[in-house]
Amino acid sequence: MSYIDEVIEQVVSQNPNEPEFHQAVKEVLESIRVVVDQNEAQFRRDALLERLCNPERQIKFRVPWIDDKGQVHVNTGYRVQFNSAIGPYKGGLRLHPSVNLGIIKFLGFEQIFKNSLTGLPIGGGKGGSDFDPKGKSDREVMAFCQSFMSELCKYIGANTDVPAGDIGTGAREIGYMYGQYKKLRGLFEGVLTGKGISYGGSLARTEATGYGLLYLTEEMLKCHGVDIKGKTVTVSGAGNVAIYAIEKAEQMGARPVTCSDSTGWVYDPDGIDVAALKEIKEVKRERLTEYKKYRPKSEYHEGRGVWTVKSDIALPCATQNELDIEDAKMLVANGVLAVCEGANMPTTAEATKYLQDNGVYFVPGKAANAGGVATSALEMSQDSERLSWTFERVDNELKGIMVRLYHNIDEAAKKYGFEGNYVVGANIAGFEKVVDAMNAQGIV
Ligand code: NDP
Repeated sequence: MSYIDEVIEQVVSQNPNEPEFHQAVKEVLESIRVVVDQNEAQFRRDALLERLCNPERQIKFRVPWIDDKGQVHVNTGYRVQFNSAIGPYKGGLRLHPSVNLGIIKFLGFEQIFKNSLTGLPIGGGKGGSDFDPKGKSDREVMAFCQSFMSELCKYIGANTDVPAGDIGTGAREIGYMYGQYKKLRGLFEGVLTGKGISYGGSLARTEATGYGLLYLTEEMLKCHGVDIKGKTVTVSGAGNVAIYAIEKAEQMGARPVTCSDSTGWVYDPDGIDVAALKEIKEVKRERLTEYKKYRPKSEYHEGRGVWTVKSDIALPCATQNELDIEDAKMLVANGVLAVCEGANMPTTAEATKYLQDNGVYFVPGKAANAGGVATSALEMSQDSERLSWTFERVDNELKGIMVRLYHNIDEAAKKYGFEGNYVVGANIAGFEKVVDAMNAQGIV
């Protein structure tokens, strides 16, 4: 049995009931097979893949908090510090009822390669809790965030581990967590990113993941002789990534026509009204059913369905495994040119293969959505310097990072004979840098 197959088997048997983690490990290891085969004896001797697939540290803790009626609730908190070979652990905190250790491990594992691809010195980590901020009062969210940070603060720091936002963790949650960290540790330092502008946040961080997704998509299409201007775009999600992907797509002259949340989706043939979407989701925190009040000609549908809409570019920006084989078939039948992942692993393995086999340009999340964490690293730089850069400076840096990232994964794919396969390109380019650092630092 090949070394890669042995390690995959080990990961599956040693981490039972963690299907998303297995999926992420398989995807990465399968696509770096060509590199591993060339170095099999050395990698095997050094147990390199075993070390890569085992987190350096996993922290799991109790998070008790009191609701507005005086009832005590207990959630579970996690922080997986996966790999610090190239820098302090960096990765978001997800607050969603579906969170469990396997989900956090899949995200932390992906984060290693994503962070490596940014070209910046950040290692991979991820955390979160099964707490659901939806439907909770501000006071309840604060109670949860303070309790969560009371424990987490023992393990993080500006030079060791720097968490950020993710699903369910936006500016409000980061603010409450930061306040608690400062109170308990007595340190005003860049321990979290995605902070408010008034206390050490970076301009353009809010926009970064969605904007970065479009910078990369535009560059990739340009290299294939396609102008993004005038193209129809389908987007899923209606959160941070989706909103700013839609905004940038419109600024580039494309026409994003859909968005979705966990209950339904919107089709607006004239193009999504970003101002209305921001008001519904960022200000009022309402459901997408409200969108029709702003745009009477739009359609609202319950359930899933974004991928049935004909488009040139599809941008899944909600959550993992939200685009399956049936969706992929529909997209191909409707002539989609490109699928670029704004979310983490939104496309199932089967759907990814189908899209690639049918000539669709497919860019995985670890490359396409890396603009968020890259800008988080720029926020860390500003915090260290105790300076704040202008929006234009951060946005220009972000654009440069995404354009370089695209060429980096494109060249890695070509170098190993997989031209146009950006899954292989991203995994190999991300892997090579991490392995180089791990080898240099010995068996630790
Ligand atoms: P948000 O919480 O802001 O938004 C998530 C959106 O996806 C919401 O519209 C939500 O709908 C929908 N959604 C979440 N879970 C599900 C589900 N199980 N089924 C259907 N819809 C769902 O999160 P973000 O926009 O920050 O994150 C979206 C994705 O992008 C995630 O995969 C995240 O890991 C990834 N990502 C985020 C980055 C960032 O900077 N924010 C950086 C890189 C990746 P509802 O509100 O109804 O739950």
